[in-house]
Amino acid sequence: PAPPDTLDVRDLTVVYGRSVHALQDVSLQVPAGGIVALLGANGAGKSTLLRAVSGTLPMHGGAVAGGTIAFGDTPLTGRAPADVVAAGVVQVPEGRRVFSGLSVEDNLKAGRLGVRNRGRADARAAAEQIYALFPVLAERRRQAAGLLSGGEQQMLAMGRALMARPRLLLLDEPSLGLAPQITARIARIVRQIHEQGTGVLVVEQNAALALELADHACVLDVGRVRLEGPAAELSRSDEVRRLYLGEQ
Ligand code: ATP
Repeated sequence: PAPPDTLDVRDLTVVYGRSVHALQDVSLQVPAGGIVALLGANGAGKSTLLRAVSGTLPMHGGAVAGGTIAFGDTPLTGRAPADVVAAGVVQVPEGRRVFSGLSVEDNLKAGRLGVRNRGRADARAAAEQIYALFPVLAERRRQAAGLLSGGEQQMLAMGRALMARPRLLLLDEPSLGLAPQITARIARIVRQIHEQGTGVLVVEQNAALALELADHACVLDVGRVRLEGPAAELSRSDEVRRLYLGEQ
């Protein structure tokens, strides 16, 4: 049997339309409770990989053309988003996409929509844990999400995902558009989530941040794995330093 709570992506190929090979034979594992970073330039296929796992590839034209995805013993290849959430894998989408007209509280409740058979007491307990992790959300629980700052919206999107009590969180560009100070705060929270036992697969343009956060990293280059290894090792690699850390 497969190790529990381990994400296992094997030989994944995703094609958009007939000709855009967004991913080709990509394999990647996230061990139970580990943090893995996915790096790469624009268009390398990072979001496509997360969307293939979470079952949210665009309906028109995004298709898994080959390979398998499993979480522990549960096959996820081609499954609907609700099934993936039920298996314990939840994505925080890029661009955050909070419901701006709804209150912070109702946004968190929306994170329970895909959750089956766990009841109200568990939802309340999950919300309290999230408010403890993000005190600013507790202060603003009755405010419309659209009034939050960018960093606070990122926290809300992460909180909403945590409402489902994932075993693995898929984070797409958590630092996008945020000031360095806010980014550092988000990074601390990601670490806390990891310390509480949740696995994290994080896509980041900010390679320095990603390598600092992760145990293991994988660099995608036009749809293929170009490099992978322990994050500390990749931080020392000449290629990574030159291409992704902006060093000469
Ligand atoms: P970014 O950091 O810019 O989001 P990325 O590494 O996440 O980049 P993807 O968004 O996964 O990359 O895109 C991989 C490739 O697939 C790119 O060539 C992109 O143009 C193409 N692509 C992405 N979404 C679609 C789509 N819905 N239809 C057609 N092609 C797409």
